[in-house]
Amino acid sequence: MHPIPQRPLRDPWEMVNTFLDPCAMCAGTIYWAGIGRVLYGAEETALLALTGDHPENPTLALPCRTVYASGQRPTEVLGPVPALQDEITALHRDFWQ
Ligand SMILES: [Zn+2]
Repeated sequence: MHPIPQRPLRDPWEMVNTFLDPCAMCAGTIYWAGIGRVLYGAEETALLALTGDHPENPTLALPCRTVYASGQRPTEVLGPVPALQDEITALHRDFWQ
């Protein structure tokens, strides 16, 4: 589940923190909300390595940096954070297997 902002996002430099590189849908939502900075912990490929071709998660391999490169305003991307990858993937491992 993805967090929903509790107030309007007016400051273009507010930051969203996510466990994984945001999917194309979330990256687009972050962009259209005017959020200017994203920090994620692990690459989407780390989740794909866990899920494989799981029918409930047909991963769209499209890093958020690729999505934001098509934007007309900058979105700064920070991540991954290698020190957190094992902890993050552990949260998903039991769910997807
Ligand atoms: Zn998403």
